[in-house]
Amino acid sequence: MLETLRRLVQEVNQARNLDQALSIIVHSVKAIMNVAVCSVYLRDSNNGFLLMATDGLEERAVGKVRLQEGEGLISLVAKRAEPVNLRSALAHPKYHYFPETGEESYHAFLGVPIIHHRNVVGVLVVQDHVAQSFNEESETFMITVAAQLAGAIAHAEISGDLEEQHKTEKTMLDSRPISGLPGAAGVAMGIARVVYPLADISAVPDRQITDIPAELERFEKALAAVRQELRIMSQRLEDKLPAQEHALFDAYLLMLESDSITDGIRNGIKKGNWAAAALRDVIQEHEQIFRDMDDSYMRERGDDVRDLGRRILMHLQQDTPADTDFSENTILISEEVTPSMLADMPMDKISGVISVRGSRTSHVAILARALGLPTVMGAADLPVRHIDGREVIVDGYSGRVYVSPSETVCREYRQLLTQEQELSEELQGLRGLPSETLDGEKIHLYVNTGLLADMSPTQESGAEGIGLYRTEFPFMIRQRFPGEEEQRAIYRQVLGSFAPDPVVLRTLDVGGDKSLPYFPIEEENPFLGWRGIRITLDHPEIFLVQIRAMLRASIGLNNLNILLPMISDISELTDSLNLIHQAYGELLEEGEKIEMPRIGVMIEVPSAVYQAGSLARRVDYLSIGTNDLTQYLLAVDRNNARVAELYDSLHPAVIRAMMQVVESARVYDKPVSVCGEMAGDPAAAILLVGMGIESLSMSVASLPQIKWVVRNLSSERANEILSAVLVMEDVHSIRAYLHAQLEEAGLGGLIRAGK
Ligand code: PEP
Ligand code: MG
Repeated sequence: MLETLRRLVQEVNQARNLDQALSIIVHSVKAIMNVAVCSVYLRDSNNGFLLMATDGLEERAVGKVRLQEGEGLISLVAKRAEPVNLRSALAHPKYHYFPETGEESYHAFLGVPIIHHRNVVGVLVVQDHVAQSFNEESETFMITVAAQLAGAIAHAEISGDLEEQHKTEKTMLDSRPISGLPGAAGVAMGIARVVYPLADISAVPDRQITDIPAELERFEKALAAVRQELRIMSQRLEDKLPAQEHALFDAYLLMLESDSITDGIRNGIKKGNWAAAALRDVIQEHEQIFRDMDDSYMRERGDDVRDLGRRILMHLQQDTPADTDFSENTILISEEVTPSMLADMPMDKISGVISVRGSRTSHVAILARALGLPTVMGAADLPVRHIDGREVIVDGYSGRVYVSPSETVCREYRQLLTQEQELSEELQGLRGLPSETLDGEKIHLYVNTGLLADMSPTQESGAEGIGLYRTEFPFMIRQRFPGEEEQRAIYRQVLGSFAPDPVVLRTLDVGGDKSLPYFPIEEENPFLGWRGIRITLDHPEIFLVQIRAMLRASIGLNNLNILLPMISDISELTDSLNLIHQAYGELLEEGEKIEMPRIGVMIEVPSAVYQAGSLARRVDYLSIGTNDLTQYLLAVDRNNARVAELYDSLHPAVIRAMMQVVESARVYDKPVSVCGEMAGDPAAAILLVGMGIESLSMSVASLPQIKWVVRNLSSERANEILSAVLVMEDVHSIRAYLHAQLEEAGLGGLIRAGK
């Protein structure tokens, strides 16, 4: 059963549009359940349900039969959001008869809701002649099918719209933007460029081409190269492999001769798609044919087809000119945009980012914010395959994406963009003004950074220094660990560009969602595993080199602050301090004139909150990393779009934990700063000021906004607002209240598109 279900979901996922997806569903479910009828009804914009596909009822009823809101058994299933299993539908008071369906002869009825993102979007129904309820096994099968299909249906629906749009050149998606999560504030309009991991054939996007003969030639070249490669391999292994295994090469070569494969690909190219996508379609189709076979030997041949496809793809990719043809205003899109993928792009051409996976505090979103790129994360319904080259709007405030928007939507967003620019210019005007509350309280604003490329906007931002330099980014874009001198040069540039203002260099914080290509870590629970200080303490050679590089970089500047990430135990702090003192001592012995830097600890795990006092008395300052603190306090993976709704740093538990940290540090007279994304959230900044936190570190794009908030607020008022928030019990009330405060102060432009 599991295999049948897997196959069904895979087929539906590969459907080109909704009709095809629904037709696969009704035919397959009817056959598997051995019933007379299977149908799918989908909710329309007026909350009614339209019959969209059937196998068993009259075909002519499809697209015609519609149940109004509250009408019929379908609405009953939707209202209850649970299965309705009836011995005889005809006898039920809710039964609504439509003559055109011809369903008067079916008694048994089982309807299960199709639920996507908590909403009932449709109902899957099976019916049969006998008057007998369906057994529990049938019911659970239907529930399983419906649960798995919800996402695929939403996907197919949008893909179909796009295909239709392509055919008719019409814009149809205006009323239906694709929802994701706000990743980085701002609005961007541009042309979609889908990037995908090499050698992943199913991730290849469609891409329209104009020079068909050239593309055909590229394909023939790749084909010839694969043939040649297989022949060489076959000869090399001829006497090393038993005859049966060796015959595999002949089978591969035969497949390559097969017209159904190669001509299929040529036809795809002739229709205007590039070779990689034409290859993807044909390979997936053939793979499916093998996978559907009953014989297990034949089923495994599906893997061979895929392997062959991968080989051809590799040759096509080698022959693809490097992606230098990025147009102005490119919107970078991928199933999973990674920090290194983004760091690799020509920054002057990228104006926005969309990632199907990940959420607001994924490191790629943080990087995008630092670069001022409007970003939507977790856009799970985005049909990535079909949108390369299309016009796209990214609304990083609401998390919405518009694909091929109409002129009306474009006009509206152009207007918002102009207002955004005006607002940003107005905010730039604040650059030279002090960051001070209305009653004269000084709030120091620093920036978070990690790329040399974003240093110059950082310097012009009016920041008073760097509050968090994530050293892992320069580690991530290299092929090996950078050496002491290499690191020293990077840190020197960072320290030098802000001296005498303070710069906080955080020691290497890899693990979790930040991996180094040359230091792979495979773990079941990476965020609870080998991360941050845990790795560097296990590898003192890496830690010491980094500390020596930082100390040497600070010679003569003396504005270095070291920050230790992921401390969850006092012993980790004492071990780190010992190593820092060791490096310091060694350098003094070597004759270097170095001043001991200030050392701080990040408070980002719950244990550190409860031991904040013990930590504070051993160091010079604390810095709250609200990104991880929120993740660990609320038990919500900061990268997982599925639970992103639950991730909010304004949760009452997070606010209380932060208050406790501030109070504990006060006992030892140690300053507390905030360097997580919360510091750059205008609503949250009010609370931080209210708590008496005097330094905030954020992405460069947020800095002018937070200064605007600070300058329009008195610390007394901030404190009152904090007191009001402390009695609230849920995050939604807190956010709504804070947003209302911002609107009231005339600062609403900070939390939505426009001014
Ligand atoms: C944090 O966790 O809040 C933080 C600033 O560190 P990072 O986002 O790099 O994990
Ligand atoms: Mg962190």
